[in-house]
Amino acid sequence: MLPLMLFLQHAFAKEEKKVAYLTFDDGPTLNTPDIVDTLSRYDAKATFFVLEERIKLYPDFIKKIAYSGNSIGLHGISHSEAIYENETSPLEEMKKTEKTLRNLLGSGSKLVRVPFGSGYRLTKAQAGHLTDNGYIIWDWNVDPRDSVGKIVPEKVMGNLRRGLSSCDGAPVILLHDRKSTLRMLPIMLEYLAKEGYTLLPINEKQTPITRVLH
Ligand SMILES: [Zn+2]
Repeated sequence: MLPLMLFLQHAFAKEEKKVAYLTFDDGPTLNTPDIVDTLSRYDAKATFFVLEERIKLYPDFIKKIAYSGNSIGLHGISHSEAIYENETSPLEEMKKTEKTLRNLLGSGSKLVRVPFGSGYRLTKAQAGHLTDNGYIIWDWNVDPRDSVGKIVPEKVMGNLRRGLSSCDGAPVILLHDRKSTLRMLPIMLEYLAKEGYTLLPINEKQTPITRVLH
């Protein structure tokens, strides 16, 4: 009896769709078109949290992200301590970023990732202003550390593997729009596909992963 039960459990586990969410912060950059093309090759979608000035700098890359079925979220303007200056400064940065995005695409975004994550310095009051205005604050639960120190692909892959195995719920993976990440993206995508993950863009109806606020 037991082997049959185990077999059934295994079969069910296999049928269950595993979903993960790749997120790319700090773009768009000159690497963005290649990141989007690489994702397409692997039939994967992601979410790009973009900076306001770079929307203006690389409007065509923003269009490429959006028109290829990936999601765009807001990462603000200053990408520094300045965003946490007062109670409404995070809201002001995100509103302006959304306006720039809307001017370009005809639609904005309510997805927000604050610089360094909400667990860093975002206060409850600041978060409240964001959510009262309809913004949805997204952090992550898997950090492969693709932008910390000297980037060694094996190390980043090890961090990714460990992050996935200890992750509660659907993985939301923190990555950055940069050359070293682009270079190792095929390895990551192959690994995630082999592990059975379908990579989807974040949408505004999902319940976000948000850290504990100060
Ligand atoms: Zn960032």
